[in-house]
Amino acid sequence: MELLIENLTKKFNQQVAVNNVSFQLKSGQCIALLGANGAGKTTTLRMLAGLLTPTSGEIKFDGSQNGVDIRSKIGYLPQHPAFYGWMTGKEFLVYVGRLANLTKLEAENRADHLLEQVGISDAKNKRIGKYSGGMRQRLGIAQALIHKPSMIMLDEPVSALDPIGRREVLTLLQELKQDTTILFSTHILNDAEEISDGLLLIHQGQLVEQGSLAELREKYQKQKIELSFK
Ligand code: ATP
Repeated sequence: MELLIENLTKKFNQQVAVNNVSFQLKSGQCIALLGANGAGKTTTLRMLAGLLTPTSGEIKFDGSQNGVDIRSKIGYLPQHPAFYGWMTGKEFLVYVGRLANLTKLEAENRADHLLEQVGISDAKNKRIGKYSGGMRQRLGIAQALIHKPSMIMLDEPVSALDPIGRREVLTLLQELKQDTTILFSTHILNDAEEISDGLLLIHQGQLVEQGSLAELREKYQKQKIELSFK
C-alpha cells in the first residue's frame, strides 16, 4: 500500500487552509500529523477521506486517483464522530457494516470480531449513550475498521479524552499499529511521540517538517528549538 499526496491545497474562499502539502505514507507506518489548532489537520484528513474536494493537488492510492476507490480503502474516524446513543455498540457496528455492503451475517461477525479487538466486547449490548469517552473512541476505531481498509485515519483520537480514556486508546493504537497502517492527527507532541514512527509537522497549512522522531529531535535539539503546541 502506498498513499501519495502531491501539492495538496484547499482554499475556503480566499483563505488557504492547506497549502501545497506533499507526503507519502507506506504500508505498516504509523504517522502523526502534528499541529496547533487551525493548522489544517482536519482539512487535510477530510480531503484524504474524500469528504472535501481539494482546490488543487493530487491524492494517489497505489497509483490510483479514483476518489471512490480511495474511499473504500481508507477507514476514517472524524474528530467529533456522531454516534446514536440509543443504539448498542454491536447494533451500531452492524448498521455501519450494512452501510458498507456487508450481509447481515457478515456484519454481525465483523462487529463481534471488532468489539473484541478494540476491547469493548463486554459492553456490546450496552447503549452507546452509557459508554465512557474512551469506549466511544474505541467503538469509533472499530467503525473505521469495518470494511477491512488498507489504512485508517484518525482525527485527534485522544485529544478530548480524560487521562484514563486517553491511556486506553493509546494502548489500543499501540496494538493496532502492529498490523494496521495509521495516520492520525494531534496537537499534543507527547501523543505523537508515544505511538508514531514519524511526524508530519503542519503549521498554518504548510508542512514545515517531516521525518522520523529521532531525526527531528536531533535537528531541534541542535537548533535549541522547543517543540510545543499549546
Ligand atoms: P483543529 O484541531 O482546531 O480542528 P485543524 O488543524 O484541524 O485544527 P482545520 O480544521 O483543518 O485545522 O482548519 C484550518 C483552517 O481552515 C482554519 O483557519 C479554519 O478556520 C479553516 N476552515 C476549516 N474548515 C473551513 C470551512 N468549512 N470554511 C471556512 N474555513 C474553514
